[in-house]
Amino acid sequence: MNTQTDRGHRVAVDLAAVREQWGDLLAAIGRRPAAEWPPREARGFLDQLAADDRAEDDDPVPVEAVVGRLPLTIREHPSPLNLDALDAALAVERDLFDLADAVAEQVQRSVRRARDAHGQPIRDEADAADPARWHPPTHRDAGPASAASAGSRGYGLHWAAVWLEGRALDEMSGDLFEPIPPRLLDEVAASARRMRLTVERALGRDGRTTTLDKPCPWCCGQLAGHTKSGGEPAVTCSTGPQCGAPVLLDDRSRRVWRGAELVGLWAALDAAQHNGENS
Ligand SMILES: [Zn+2]
Repeated sequence: MNTQTDRGHRVAVDLAAVREQWGDLLAAIGRRPAAEWPPREARGFLDQLAADDRAEDDDPVPVEAVVGRLPLTIREHPSPLNLDALDAALAVERDLFDLADAVAEQVQRSVRRARDAHGQPIRDEADAADPARWHPPTHRDAGPASAASAGSRGYGLHWAAVWLEGRALDEMSGDLFEPIPPRLLDEVAASARRMRLTVERALGRDGRTTTLDKPCPWCCGQLAGHTKSGGEPAVTCSTGPQCGAPVLLDDRSRRVWRGAELVGLWAALDAAQHNGENS
């Protein structure tokens, strides 16, 4: 794989990480940030598992689990409670849209000219309406209707990210796009990485390790919570293979809870606390 193709793939991976976590970031804006582990925002999948369990009891799915999947736009957010998440979302949305405008300006062919029935040159509307085309916003300078059109921004961040991924990977669409020049790809790569880090930092998924304040319910060892970039959270027990928790060992021979296993750990921690309160 040559370096240009390789770099294009890394851009696509970073941009996919941004759009896949976008719903979580929008949902985080409406929740008070809390100093707890895992960061509440990283628990979306746990909420979902819990919701699946409860579905048997015909309980409604929690609103928050649903909201994370809706194509919300941040400006419509009624009551931001997490201003760091809001700042991150505004910055990433702005940077991503600006980047798409800049890339379109350099690699996208202008709308073709056609001739009308009288031989007069006109805009080729079919070419202009090509769904693969990125439309930058248009502005009018004066008057109350100065914001003329949002262009492709109106379709939201998800579409902008997918469109940029196509340019980074040099996906063809007739003669609409030229191959992305290496220098421009470098800029796109740096921006995509920065945007991904911004989103993951705001969601507490940037590789931090936190010591949990409750001991392991099985061996009283010390529990540590880990988040990693682009990955799901995990908890490890410090004791090693002697710990009798019903989960596998990680590559450092520690018991480790991942994914659905975390539900079992939370339940055991809750039960331990409950017993402690009753005794
Ligand atoms: Zn343990």
